[in-house]
Amino acid sequence: MRTSLLRFGITARLGLVALAPALAVAIGAGSIAQSKNATRHDVTALRRQVLHFEQELLLRAALHSEQSSAQALARLPSFGISANFAGTLIGRDFAADLAERRARVDGLLDGGEVDAVIAADVRRLVTDARRQLDADRPDVDALGQAYDRATLLVATDVDEDLAQLRTASGSVGSSSARVLRAAELAHQATLVSQEGIAQSAGAAGVVFGPVAEREGRLAALMAIHTRFEVATASLLETPSSAGDKLSALLERPDLAQYVKSISDLAEAGDPNLVPDSRSPLALVGLFRGIFDFDDGLYGVADDAGTALVQAIDEVAHDAHDQFVSAVALIAAALGVTLVITVVSAGSLARPLRRLAADVRAVQSGDLDRTVVQGSVTTEIGVLQGAVADLVANLRVVDLQAEALADGRLDDAVLGEQVPGKLGAALQHSVARLQDAIADERSLRDRLAHEATHDALTGLLNRSGVLAHAGKVLAAATRRERGTALLFVDLDDFKRVNDGHGHAAGDAVLREIAARLGDAVRHGDVVGRLGGDEFVVIMVDVDEADEAVALGERLLDVTREPIVVDGDRCVVGASVGVALAADGDPDPLELLEQADVAVFRAKTRGKSRVEVFDADLQRMLEERADLARALAEGIERGEVTVHYQPIVAADDLSAVGLEALARWERPGHGMVPPGVFVPVAEDSDLVIELGRHVLRTACTTVQGLGLDGLELAVNVSARHVASGYLVDDVTEALRSSGMAAGNLTVEITETVLVTDLPFLAEQLDQLRALGVRVAIDDFGTGFTSLAHLRQLPADVIKIDRSFVSEMDGDDGSLVKLVVDLGHQLDLGVVAEGVETERQLATLRKLGCDRIQGFLLGRPQTPADLVGWLAAHARRYRLAAVSTEVE
Ligand code: C2E
Ligand code: CA
Ligand code: CA
Repeated sequence: MRTSLLRFGITARLGLVALAPALAVAIGAGSIAQSKNATRHDVTALRRQVLHFEQELLLRAALHSEQSSAQALARLPSFGISANFAGTLIGRDFAADLAERRARVDGLLDGGEVDAVIAADVRRLVTDARRQLDADRPDVDALGQAYDRATLLVATDVDEDLAQLRTASGSVGSSSARVLRAAELAHQATLVSQEGIAQSAGAAGVVFGPVAEREGRLAALMAIHTRFEVATASLLETPSSAGDKLSALLERPDLAQYVKSISDLAEAGDPNLVPDSRSPLALVGLFRGIFDFDDGLYGVADDAGTALVQAIDEVAHDAHDQFVSAVALIAAALGVTLVITVVSAGSLARPLRRLAADVRAVQSGDLDRTVVQGSVTTEIGVLQGAVADLVANLRVVDLQAEALADGRLDDAVLGEQVPGKLGAALQHSVARLQDAIADERSLRDRLAHEATHDALTGLLNRSGVLAHAGKVLAAATRRERGTALLFVDLDDFKRVNDGHGHAAGDAVLREIAARLGDAVRHGDVVGRLGGDEFVVIMVDVDEADEAVALGERLLDVTREPIVVDGDRCVVGASVGVALAADGDPDPLELLEQADVAVFRAKTRGKSRVEVFDADLQRMLEERADLARALAEGIERGEVTVHYQPIVAADDLSAVGLEALARWERPGHGMVPPGVFVPVAEDSDLVIELGRHVLRTACTTVQGLGLDGLELAVNVSARHVASGYLVDDVTEALRSSGMAAGNLTVEITETVLVTDLPFLAEQLDQLRALGVRVAIDDFGTGFTSLAHLRQLPADVIKIDRSFVSEMDGDDGSLVKLVVDLGHQLDLGVVAEGVETERQLATLRKLGCDRIQGFLLGRPQTPADLVGWLAAHARRYRLAAVSTEVE
């Protein structure tokens, strides 16, 4: 350019002045022209991504709102309130609400914006959950789990999308920052809606959940509430339509009151503040709040989504506008140049027309055109030279812009300098751009990294693990190789935290993370799910043995002592292995299977490796199957009650009966209670069972006219903890006409040790009714003498194992228990008496009552009547023989 500058004469000075801005604009326009198509392409792609992201955010919010509605409806029947009644009370049509929320989810699933695989999985889970709700007896836990899984699936994708969006938006220039911010805000709004909805579900859980679980649920509510506050605060800080909507929502007096009551509850952490869930009036405000709150929050997420889409549309629009206006500017500038030149050089039509054509070509972005030179007139020749130089320089600038746009920061063209002052300024700008792009790139990488990594150890976090497992499984399927997931659960890590403090705990986790990383092969990946749970994803596993060998190695490295601040900490681990082939099972299931396997490792004594196998698979399926069948069985009357006589130790007269559940499962025969009771204990099914046995036994015993005999019924601690037992007992007594003094409720000692205060309070209520309480299986738990004093009991039942062990010793242990019981004014019953010798010893030791096969087996009501008659004849003889002794 310097040469062309020298060729400028005085007359052309004006032209130079005019050309300078033209050049400046051309430089900007050049890069825009160059990246015009690329940008348009990127913006279109980004727009698609944004729409996808927005739809998934909405799906996530919609799922939560459907879940919340469904859970509320599922719970209503257990309060004896119909949905219609509750709806009238709070002025809502629940059925319509639910239908609307379902339709919202369906609409999003069918909209085609959600990833097809995820949509299919979510649809399946949602269908399960809906079927559950439509069933006669919805299992609230199963329902919640199905929705949780569905939301987790979507959330994992949303996190990934956001990370991708951060990456992709970098390529469309500075205006995309606005989109990115809108995306972050929309994400934030969904978090607010998610936490808010989780919070309302949490509050409902605290109020409606079993009283024994309240403390735990309150703690969970506190955590949710805190996250809600944090998310809300940051959304309110940012000027956005979602923020406005949220603040308007929070200012509505009814909702403000509702949020405040949750906040009070969460902050106080005091289960006693929980309103009485059985009073319909107490439910009104809460329900109204929950539903209005959910609706409002979905609206917040929706608004944020709309704002996000608006932002990307504006960017798309702006990108186009910018280009158009840049071209218009350069045209104007070059036009002015021409006019000035024309004025100063006189009219020289032909070369000027030619030059005008060249300029127009440049205007349209055609930089490959060769500008004709060698005009007859100096002025025009100078101008032609200038334009030719301009074009040449623009080419350099263009290449530089291309390199920057492509992120080729070390491309040599970026070092090339266009001559002149303008060139120097340009070079400076290029350098600054280079820096800015490098910074942005590292920020982007960091954000993407944070979304999928654990801050403490730097390992993949749960969503990172799932995403990585998805990729590994897909690749493994293509290569026809197997994959293993090893679930590493530290043993007794709590001891480190409790004994050495949390900082030491963190140090230990970091050290374990490093050791696991060193122990695995190249290509295998270690992740941390949270707490003391790690996973290893092992690739190219063809034999389970290879995974087990790695598992053993992991056990070894975790066992090595860790020194933290001079303290030696020793942790160990249990490892569960799950294997996948041909992409089956999916990452989430694979993780669950490894989880079950590690559970077995724990129950088999820790510090070992267990592989998820057909047994565990069968166990999972059988348990689910059994629970389903039992639930139906109770309803269909397959569960009957047998009665085992209990006799007085002194004269052996029949004084009581123990009701024992029996299940005749069609096609399977008799299922022992030792099998189905533990399965029932896993869910509220055991409450159904207890209710059924209570009602049946009271009615049967009354019906047989056996009201002279005391009836003992087993109930689960879960039933006591649910807070329903007192009502259920009252109802069974009322409907059967049995006197409260005739009923004993048996509860196992082992469970009494945990959460004693609440259970004791419930049992005291029963005793206030006149019902007796027996501590079952006494001796198998850990009740200390001090504890026993506090137990609200009338009777202890000495466990069978003590009675059978008595044969080998002098019975001093049983004697101790009998004496202890009597000291505390408790009646003592011995169970499992099978021999005459045991009977004699127990009578001698002063035991009050006897139960066992020796005297009578559990039997049907019909057999029982015969047994009682025969026994009445026999016991007189026995009584006589005792007197003779
Ligand atoms: P449990 O409450 O300790 O019931 C006594 C168990 O000992 C019964 O077993 C009974 O058949 C058995 N048994 C009685 N006398 C003898 C004997 O002389 N020798 C031997 N070897 N066993 C004897 P069953 O009916 O199989 O019940 C097992 C457990 O299942 C019960 O133990 C109880 O914990 C649970 N269960 C049974 N029915 C119900 C129920 O309706 N509700 C709940 N929650 N649990 C129940
Ligand atoms: Ca019992
Ligand atoms: Ca027992």
